Amino acid sequence: MKPLVIAIDGYSSCGKSTTAKAVAAELHYAYVDTGAMYRAVTLHLLENGIAFDDLDRIRQAMHDDVSITFRRNRRTGRNELCLNGQVREDDIRQMRISNSVSEVSVIPLVRHALVAQQQRMGRKRGVVMDGRDIGTTVFADAEVKVFMTADVTIRALRRQEELAAKKEQVPLDAIIENLRKRDHIDSTRAESPLRRAADAVLLDTTHITISEQVDFVLDRVSAALFAAYAGNAGFQPAK
Ligand code: C5P
Repeated sequence: MKPLVIAIDGYSSCGKSTTAKAVAAELHYAYVDTGAMYRAVTLHLLENGIAFDDLDRIRQAMHDDVSITFRRNRRTGRNELCLNGQVREDDIRQMRISNSVSEVSVIPLVRHALVAQQQRMGRKRGVVMDGRDIGTTVFADAEVKVFMTADVTIRALRRQEELAAKKEQVPLDAIIENLRKRDHIDSTRAESPLRRAADAVLLDTTHITISEQVDFVLDRVSAALFAAYAGNAGFQPAK
């Protein structure tokens, strides 16, 4: 059976990454957190004092200085982002990166470079990718597309808990403001904006658990596999 591409898009902090990771583990697929890649570019620009409107330096940085890879930590089982060979997983999750990442992800030359890399990472299929434009741009031919949404306060509470676990205490209001701002920039940018693909199924995660989210996606995967099998076997739909 041909391995599938599973695209999980949606608003910030709806549980996309947690769901995508669990689905990938269940299916023995690769997992790519595309948001981590935009965060890594943001970290590089901030650390090197590169202004977000200095397109010449950004172009040069994307071409020569920014290498993004993922590595599996054998001890924790976590997928960790590496920037230029160094694990920077905790650094890219900080609030200062969340506050700037949407300004970096609107820059077309950054998007072109990262989308091309994401397409290379998924070219053999058998991948779960989460982000904002996977089902619309990166893999518009994904066999399974899910678009997640949730109430903003619930999302902010989840994000606050994640930050607290990493010893970063952030007031709820500041998180809500950050989520609203990112959602707005992400959905209104010119280049591959955040939007639900016409063939994506909507999943509102406000009142459901992670394991229900995972089951929802796995049900879609079963349906897609059955449809592919039935198509190959020449089944006709019942009249
Ligand atoms: O998923 P996460 O919240 O870590 O993403 C951080 C930011 O990266 C998003 O707010 C968005 O600006 C950007 N992003 C994007 N396209 C993607 C994934 C993330 O523009 N495919």
